[in-house]
Order: sequence, then C-alpha cells, then structure tokens
Amino acid sequence: MRVLFGGFAHETNTFSPWKTGSAEFRADGYYAGDEIRKLAGTNTGAGGVLRAAGSEPDVELILTVDTTAIPGGYVTDEIFDEVVGTFERAILREKPDAIVLDLHGAMVSESEIDGDGAILRRVRQAAGPGVPIVAELDLHANVGAEMLEHATVLVPYDTYPHIDNAERGEEIFRLAVDAARGKTQPRMASRRLPMFLAGPKQFSGIEPTKSIMDLVHEVETRPGVLTAGVCFAFPWADCPFAGMTVTVATDGDIDLAQRYADEIGDVIWSRREEFRPDTMTVEEAVHAAMEHESGPVVLADLGDNPGGGSAADGTALLWGLLDLGARDAAFALIADPEVVEEAFAIGLEGRIETRLGAKADDLHGYPVDVVATVVNLTDGTFVYEGPMLTGVHSSLGRTAVLRCEGRHGNTVDVIVCERRVQPLDTAVFRSQGIDPESKQILVVKSAVHFRGAFMPIASRIIEVDTPGLTSVDFSRFPYTQLSRPIWPLDAI
Ligand SMILES: [Zn+2]
Repeated sequence: MRVLFGGFAHETNTFSPWKTGSAEFRADGYYAGDEIRKLAGTNTGAGGVLRAAGSEPDVELILTVDTTAIPGGYVTDEIFDEVVGTFERAILREKPDAIVLDLHGAMVSESEIDGDGAILRRVRQAAGPGVPIVAELDLHANVGAEMLEHATVLVPYDTYPHIDNAERGEEIFRLAVDAARGKTQPRMASRRLPMFLAGPKQFSGIEPTKSIMDLVHEVETRPGVLTAGVCFAFPWADCPFAGMTVTVATDGDIDLAQRYADEIGDVIWSRREEFRPDTMTVEEAVHAAMEHESGPVVLADLGDNPGGGSAADGTALLWGLLDLGARDAAFALIADPEVVEEAFAIGLEGRIETRLGAKADDLHGYPVDVVATVVNLTDGTFVYEGPMLTGVHSSLGRTAVLRCEGRHGNTVDVIVCERRVQPLDTAVFRSQGIDPESKQILVVKSAVHFRGAFMPIASRIIEVDTPGLTSVDFSRFPYTQLSRPIWPLDAI
C-alpha cells in the first residue's frame, strides 16, 4: 500500500494589495520530499500523517512537497503551478493507492477563484477516479463546488485556536488507508449556510461554538459515520461560495450523510445571532485595561490580524496606549523593516525619533511619530511553546524592541520586526526579552489563536474593533462577487 502526501495551504485575503508568491511560501517553510520528515513531532498536518504512517509498517509514504505561507493576497500562478505540478508528476510517476493532502480551503490564486478546488481537480485528474483523496482543511475553509466534487473526504480542523492539526493529519491518513484497503466506502455530503463570521465567537471554548462542536462529535459516534466537520468560512474573500459549510462522510450511505449534515446545519443557522462579537473601541479598551485591578489584560487587535492577511503594521491601539497614558504595556507587533534598520544602525540603548507603522497601505491607521529607546535587538527567531504549532520554529525577521514615550510620562514597549507574523504565542514576547506576565497590558494582533497561549496568563481579554484588512465590520469591504444575501451583511 502506497500513500502519497502533499501540503499546500494558504488563506487568501482578496482585499489585500500584496500577492503571495514563491518568496512568501519559502519564508514560511517549504519542505520538499524527505525534508517533510523534519515536521515529525510538530503539531501540523504533516506531523500527524507521519505519526500515523509510523504505526503502519506495510504502508509506504510518498512525500512530495509541503508548504504554507502567512495569509495575504492572491497566490501567484507561478507558485501554484510549481507546487501542484509537483503533486501531479509524483502521482503519475508513483501511482499511489491513496492520496492525503494538507490544504487550507480558502486559497484564491491569480487564475483560480477556488484555488483548493483547482488543486483537487488536478490531483484527481492525475490520480484517476478510483483513488481515495482525503484532504485536511483549516477551520476557515470556504468550500467550493470543485472541492466537493474531486475530494473523497474533506476533514476540517475541529478547534479554534487550531490545536488539532496533527490529530486531523492522523485522521486523513486513516480514512484514506481504510478506503484504499476496501474496509470503507466513504460518501460525503455537505450543507452550505449563507453566513460567515467574525472571529471571536468561533473560539472553541465558548457558545455557540462549543455546543455546535459537541454535536459534531456526537454525530461522529453514530453508526456508519466516518467523520463530520464544520468549515466556519473565511469572510475576507470576495468569492461566490464564501460561507459556512458542514461536511459529513458515512460508510456508503449518502442519504444518511446528508441527513446529518442538514441536522448540524440547522442548529448552526438557528444560533447565528450568538456569533455577533462583543467589541470595544480603542479608547474604551485602553481605559478598561488601565483600570483593571490586575494584569495582564490582553487587547486583541481584531482589524489587523496578519493571520487573516493584514499588514501587521496597524497603529490604532499604539496611538491609544501612548496618548491615553497606559503604563506597563507591551505591543506585539509592528512590521516595519525601515524602523528595524534604523534601530540596528543606532544600536542598543540608542535613542531614535522616527515614524512607526501604517506604511504598507492606507487601511491600517496612520504612522505614529515616536521618540524611543532601543532596548532589545535580535534575529527574531523563536519556537512556538503554546498549544498551537507546538515545536514549530519561526522568525519575526530582525527585530527591535522600542521603548516608546507616551504623552503622560508613560512608555510602551513595542516589538518592531521585519516580517508579518501573527503573535499568537507568548514566545513572541519572551524571545524579545519581555516577560508578558509582568505587564499590565499586552496588545496582540490576533483574533482568537492567541487564546491558546495567553488565556492561562491573562486576567482579562478584550476584543478591540480596530481598522484593517481583518475588520469585523464586513460592511467596510467592497464585495462584488460574493453570493448575496449572506448573513450578517444581509438580513435573511
Ligand atoms: Zn483558521
């Protein structure tokens, strides 16, 4: 038995002005062939596939390429054809008995509005009709018609923060091997819901998501069910099919799969109003954080979450902290390579006067004039320590910590780095010499993922309605291709 594995994952924010090409994928990890084995033991799809394959001595794993890039604008045709072409050639050469793929489900390329559907179409064409193709998806997939047509089974993550990546990797491997051995005959049904969601209430630990996923897991225990999942959608994608989708696969019974997908879908639809986020303005949030009796209070910069494709240089909360007199505050992060260059040129303990942030586009506030002392300089490398991406090595690029002076004798420590990274792990602070637990206020450019690592130390979490490419107010975005009506943009 031979199982082929490949990974190609991107969450595409179609409102972003920057393309995502070869350089972006290579910067975030591009593993070719046996290099994929370096991901053994990590909480990634590949890590799960490798672990599951390790306990099946008579299964030979064929490794192709596994790559992902930070969310951003359209994926270029060049990298798309490079990666998918590698999959196709390996399939034609190796003739695998089954194929497992680690995808995202919200990829849009320059030529393919349903990027993942196009990957699955080309993989299916190369493999032929009988080969099981099982794909792992992010929880934020927008499931297009071609994804449903060409995949045997789609398996989205169950968790947000996404901490079951490796578990789902094991699951796709088992589903594919069982199907290839003839032990099961997977039949998948889906139910699309005309709704998409802002981040916060999709957190697995709160309602209504908690009960919805409890139901999904209960459905998975029913006789004949192989797997069930919910794709919560990626709203910053101007695609006709953007929206939530329930998927259920059974062993040979498509009607049963459809009935269960409809059952879960009906529950989600009936509880949609509970997904509206509770947010504060910048001013409300900073005051609330300053007045809270203990720290750290974590402020989530919802509008500028680079994990959803934004610039990572938004300044709205930085203005608030400096101008309103916040003390013991640390800010993760501002991607501003020009200011990093200035900080490295002047060196540790040097003082600089500069304009910080909001340079990538005009959607993330205005640059802030700061007077600051350089208190830390590093190469920006860190290892994820929290429950998400555990063990994965990453880098902020060269990084400076600037102690910026506020208007009331206060200072704010700002992590200024070269790369766009979602600061979802406390290691982002610690690796830069900042002890997050000693701070009264922490700003993170993240919607939900930060909760895995920060909830254990946070005295309070406040979601802040800031401007940017991941704003939770969808009426700010110029959708033209999205199928309407869609909740909550339209009343249904
Ligand atoms: Zn996601």
